[in-house]
Amino acid sequence: MPKQENGQREDSVILNDLSESFEEEVRAFLSDEEKLHLFDDLTKVNPVTTRTVLKCLQARYRVNLFYTNAGCSLVALNPFQPFSCLYSPELMREYHVALCPQDLKPHIFAVAEQTYRNVQKQMDPVNQSIIVSGESGAGKTWTSRCLMKFYASVAASVICPEGNETVERIEKRVLDSNPVMEAFGNACTLRNNNSSRFGKYIQLQLDRFHHLTGASIQTFLLEKTRVAYQAPNERNFHIFYQITKGATAEERLEWNLPEGAEYRWLPNSERNLDEDCFEVTRGAMFHLGIGHATQSNIFKVLSALLHLGNVQFSNPVDESQPCELEDKTKEFVKTTADLLQIPVEELLESLRIRKITAGKQQQVFKKPCSRAECETRRDCLAKVIYARLFEWLVLVINENIYTDPSVWSSFIGLLDVYGFEAFPENNLEQLCINYANEKLQQHFVAHYLKAQQEEYAAEGLQWSFINYQDNQNCLDLIEGNPLSIFSLLNEVTSIISFPPFLSQYFRPCILKAALKECRLNRASNTDLLQTRIEKALSSNQCLSRDKFSKKPNFIISHYAGKVCYQLAAMVEKNKDAVPPELLHVLQNSKDPLLQKLFPVTEKNQNNTNIQNRAAVVTVVSKFKSSLEHLMEILSRTTPHYIRCIKPNADCMAMTFRREEVLSQLQACGIVEAITISAAGFPVRIPFQSFTERYKLLRKSWGSSKKRVWGKSSSHPAEKKGKFVQVIPLPSSETPVVDDDKAPRAAVLEI
Ligand code: ATP
Ligand code: MG
Repeated sequence: MPKQENGQREDSVILNDLSESFEEEVRAFLSDEEKLHLFDDLTKVNPVTTRTVLKCLQARYRVNLFYTNAGCSLVALNPFQPFSCLYSPELMREYHVALCPQDLKPHIFAVAEQTYRNVQKQMDPVNQSIIVSGESGAGKTWTSRCLMKFYASVAASVICPEGNETVERIEKRVLDSNPVMEAFGNACTLRNNNSSRFGKYIQLQLDRFHHLTGASIQTFLLEKTRVAYQAPNERNFHIFYQITKGATAEERLEWNLPEGAEYRWLPNSERNLDEDCFEVTRGAMFHLGIGHATQSNIFKVLSALLHLGNVQFSNPVDESQPCELEDKTKEFVKTTADLLQIPVEELLESLRIRKITAGKQQQVFKKPCSRAECETRRDCLAKVIYARLFEWLVLVINENIYTDPSVWSSFIGLLDVYGFEAFPENNLEQLCINYANEKLQQHFVAHYLKAQQEEYAAEGLQWSFINYQDNQNCLDLIEGNPLSIFSLLNEVTSIISFPPFLSQYFRPCILKAALKECRLNRASNTDLLQTRIEKALSSNQCLSRDKFSKKPNFIISHYAGKVCYQLAAMVEKNKDAVPPELLHVLQNSKDPLLQKLFPVTEKNQNNTNIQNRAAVVTVVSKFKSSLEHLMEILSRTTPHYIRCIKPNADCMAMTFRREEVLSQLQACGIVEAITISAAGFPVRIPFQSFTERYKLLRKSWGSSKKRVWGKSSSHPAEKKGKFVQVIPLPSSETPVVDDDKAPRAAVLEI
């Protein structure tokens, strides 16, 4: 079925024509309700329509069958209720020792075991990756954790008689990275109590005996704004609640966290979650080589951030003076400065006064910041400390779990990446996330088509390679060269970041247009970006605009649907600048941890405005290059896909809402994949059923009978016991039948 405009598929039908007889087939299929849950592979559902697929998934969900194969993907429905027997060590073993794990019930352990066997069989490529995707709360992190446990169990090194403790510890350490990363990188959101606010790719490294010897973690785009801003009914990162709830009396004194104190950046702390468990985080950090002293240092810095959040500014009476602080706020600034080990006057100055260097003599002028600017600086200080702390933690964890490449020979990568997002208001974060999903979708479609077409070729089936509609157009719009949303965003970001004398670095026409626009029309960078995007990219069909909205915006038609992005603040977010005064004050801290996070390098010792600005690496550039690096790695591995589905938005146990499931199936490309398979050989009827169903017609097939069965008996696939092909009969040879159930082109499983 042709893909409809903007990736929207007709809801009622995925495949085939909606003829009357087809309707009948659908009805007949659905009428056999008792059997629906038996379809453990969606590609076996026949006919394949949204109705039949959804009914099967629902029927399976009802009888606690949460996993279903969908061709090369596994669909995982979240039960929102623990089923410990589903992940028991016994079950891991069952899949591990099975002759053919794919013959057991669909399960993440079947995928895990198949992946592991591919490594053992030295498949080409030998390295494997499991891409776990789905929307927030669908179960990606849960799944990744289970997969890691599986490998820590089945790929554990055999401990030699003398007892090689180091090897045993590696598996534990790899598993211990989870609670630490989750404490610092996860938070309670409206959609998930334990939502990962970063993307993660972990490589489990295997030695030549296929034992787990170590791992390495790569993270993407931590949502650092959460430190200083939490949406209504959401929370800050778990770790803040853990320290305020779990600190001992002594630690409370040391970190200045009196019991019952209130912090603006710690909303909804009355809610107690399982994730608030400080002891687990501490234990895991300890196993990962982060000793008590360093831990205490980390928590002290986090406490400083909580105090910083309580700092409030008010407008000065005299505008030439810096913003004022209330008495209470003065106390918070002092505590923050004490905990961060920086002089309080310097902290205050960095928050309230901007230094401008100008003239040939590089004279420094001081200008008081407005109240809004002071608040931005306060938030920026918290964000940069937290982001660097997170990066540093990942580094330390990696140092403690990573093994030398001479020790490991292959790896299995697990990707737990945020799913497609479309909120009423979307900005740079969603653009990056959805861009990542476009990249993964492109990888999926290319891989799926390739795999499927190769399978046809291997079976010797008549097959002409099909051209499929990929999402290249959309990717060109976002990241293409020379003109794309990313490149224009970077240009505008650079223009506002650089002083005019650096204009030589830009294409003159862009700069001229930009300066003209800024000067004559006093257009903001938002308007400038909008104009640039509309002028340069209007020919791309994936781009449009919400003309009814008063806010500057653009719409991208993603493969998973349309998303409207707001342009306001996008340039600033992309620039992600840290005022040099803040960096300077942090670099002069006496705190050992801050000294590691903000090293005084030669370059930033002579920190001037210009040098600092010249070092601007935009958010999208950084994200694009880390994603390209990831795609590079993925392309050199054999991929496996697990599509996590959230059966209801309210996270209610055992509740299946069909519309919600359907939209996720479409967004994660499963429907697309089935559509693709339909473009090839849509009908896959088990041989037995085929003969049963058409035996009445056999007489009338005459000479064609020979051709159909004759061909199959000599077919190489038959020897493999896999598929036979029924050749589409030319109309002249069409068997004389009085109903429309004559066989069409089909791949028959025997
Ligand atoms: P996010 O993108 O927000 O990080 P996610 O896809 O990683 O979301 P998870 O945190 O893995 O979602 O899962 C959300 C919750 O769903 C879990 O905290 C857990 O309570 C429940 N859950 C997920 N998978 C399962 C499962 N297989 N069995 C039981 N409960 C599950
Ligand atoms: Mg998660």
